[in-house]
Amino acid sequence: MSVLIYTENVGWEFKKSTFEAVSYASAIAGQNNTNLVAISIGDVSKAELTALGKYGAEKILNVSNAKLKSFINQAYASVIAEAAKKEGADIVVIANSFSGRGLAPRIAVKLEAGLADGAVSLPDQGSGKFIVKKTAFSGKAFAIVELTSANKVISLTPNSYKVVEKIETAVIEDFAAEGNASDFKAVIKEIVRATDKVSLPDADIVVSGGRGLKGPENWGMVEELAGLLGAALACSKPVSDNGWRPHSEHVGQTGIAVSPNLYIAIGISGAIQHLAGVSSSKVIVVINKDPEAPFFKVADYGIVGDAFEVVPKLIAAIKEYKA
Ligand code: FAD
Repeated sequence: MSVLIYTENVGWEFKKSTFEAVSYASAIAGQNNTNLVAISIGDVSKAELTALGKYGAEKILNVSNAKLKSFINQAYASVIAEAAKKEGADIVVIANSFSGRGLAPRIAVKLEAGLADGAVSLPDQGSGKFIVKKTAFSGKAFAIVELTSANKVISLTPNSYKVVEKIETAVIEDFAAEGNASDFKAVIKEIVRATDKVSLPDADIVVSGGRGLKGPENWGMVEELAGLLGAALACSKPVSDNGWRPHSEHVGQTGIAVSPNLYIAIGISGAIQHLAGVSSSKVIVVINKDPEAPFFKVADYGIVGDAFEVVPKLIAAIKEYKA
């Protein structure tokens, strides 16, 4: 018995969501007194692979096969399921990323496993059960599911589990798997980036706007601030509900969870549902004209003032600093 974690890479490098998933899988392995095996597919460097040991992976199966250089759902699912069988892993963990959402159910079918997609906390294994809290209805609710099958697949919601660093060394082992011929019915020929914008769940800095900004026409200064800081844009729920910003920017309990090093909240009151998705940010800066706004209670730095005066001053100061 062991736990297997699929370590997704982007451009042959691992992202924060992968380290979170390794840390999470390592904790599940700890719950079950077993070891954690990672599988990596693609041309990831030895140094990058070895770094997985820092998060609890004891062995890394490295699949480097020309046929698997671009992501093919069916083939990757076959390879991961084959690795699970080889290692006798009855729990498979992956990040609930865009590709993870396609992979998890396919792996579950191949292993005849129960699936908890979008888990937000460690499984509760008390009284011999295996209970997982996961998001449901596109993040609008949580579901508590019990996985009753022998094999289990869990995909972890990004930013819902903290990266935990350990001091362990990982052994790298080549794993010659390539999927089945029938897995290659659609093959990616080229990937064209549609945007250079920073992806919100992975962002190091997030600049977020709320209803205090009054309307979509006032987002110019928010975008300028984010651009200067290399930050991703986010917003509160009413802002996206009103159509001022796209739903993809909505953060909080029913939106995306973020965990950046710096979260700047502009004209956001700090309702508990908003905080649920942002409070694990390392440093929180709040700009609000109401000194009683609840957000100040969790802020590391607070600026009491009108956003329409404070933000332009902040932009000017950053420009001066950069000049
Ligand atoms: P408001 O509460 O209206 O706050 C606006 C703030 O702007 C105020 O604090 C005000 O003082 C300040 N302000 C006004 N003018 C200025 C100015 N000129 N300069 C500076 N500050 C100014 N909300 C989320 O964000 N994410 C969620 O995921 C989410 N999920 C929810 C789930 C449920 C089931 C429910 C019931 C609610 C949920 N909400 C969520 C809504 C949440 O309860 C709040 O209503 C919402 O977060 C408030 O958004 P806001 O702070 O932008 O607006």
